Amino acid sequence: MLEYIDNLNEWQFYAVITAVFIALGVLSKGAASVKWSKSKAISGVVNFAFLKLTALYSGLFFFAMPVIKEWYGAQGFPQIPREFWDSVPVPLAALAILLVYDFGVYWAHRLLHTSVLWPAHAVHHSDTDMNFLTWSRGHPTEQIIIVTILFFSSTWLGLNVEEVAGLALLRALHQYYVHANLDWDHGPFHYLLVSPRFHRWHHVDDVKAYDKNFASIFPFYDKIFGTYYNPHSAFDMPTGIGAHTPGHNLAALTAWPFMEWGRMIAAKLRPLEKTPKATPTET
Ligand SMILES: [Zn+2]
Ligand SMILES: [Zn+2]
Repeated sequence: MLEYIDNLNEWQFYAVITAVFIALGVLSKGAASVKWSKSKAISGVVNFAFLKLTALYSGLFFFAMPVIKEWYGAQGFPQIPREFWDSVPVPLAALAILLVYDFGVYWAHRLLHTSVLWPAHAVHHSDTDMNFLTWSRGHPTEQIIIVTILFFSSTWLGLNVEEVAGLALLRALHQYYVHANLDWDHGPFHYLLVSPRFHRWHHVDDVKAYDKNFASIFPFYDKIFGTYYNPHSAFDMPTGIGAHTPGHNLAALTAWPFMEWGRMIAAKLRPLEKTPKATPTET
């Protein structure tokens, strides 16, 4: 299977992904679920443009990874020796790696929801027409944080470049799935693997759903850390934070976090400028 994916060229890969989601959409909600409104089609185009940008700097990351790994080793940072994994059965090793990785992503995602980092992540949350391509809508500054987590967790675990690429590909396929227009919740396994319903709640514009469901693979991390929220179907709930971000405008969305941080700094400086001169105290 992985070998087959490896042999696909880029456009065949997108065609296969699209065909899979059309099939899943029809299976789950009938033809109505794959009829895209004009606004959803524009959202899809913007998300696809973000996907191309992400592919560009992900490529740069993999190109730079051997150099960074050498730097990591030279600093004397801890690393699990390769030989350790040779003694562990492959399914168990894969599970351990995913557990470490998703633990890192859970906390990185939670940090991205704090006020200082929120502008970087708000771009992902800006899609009011959530669809499988919404996963691609991520600002470069947010991607730097996620890629750093992936790099440090995988280097600490002693993985090689091919294994990290395989992990990134599996993550990409799963993330497309959880952003898809599907109302699936994985039944008795809903705490075990992130479902489209679980992640849709993360995007829902409702105060009860804010800052919930941070895990990207294992929802039990949210259960353990008190952020699990999945009361019922989220299929007809509004998604996005539309009024607060520039909608489906690629250039404006790219500039938006920098403008927000500029506003934050200006707001911090303003009270200092406006502080009135101390008036002499009356005696
Ligand atoms: Zn988020
Ligand atoms: Zn998302």
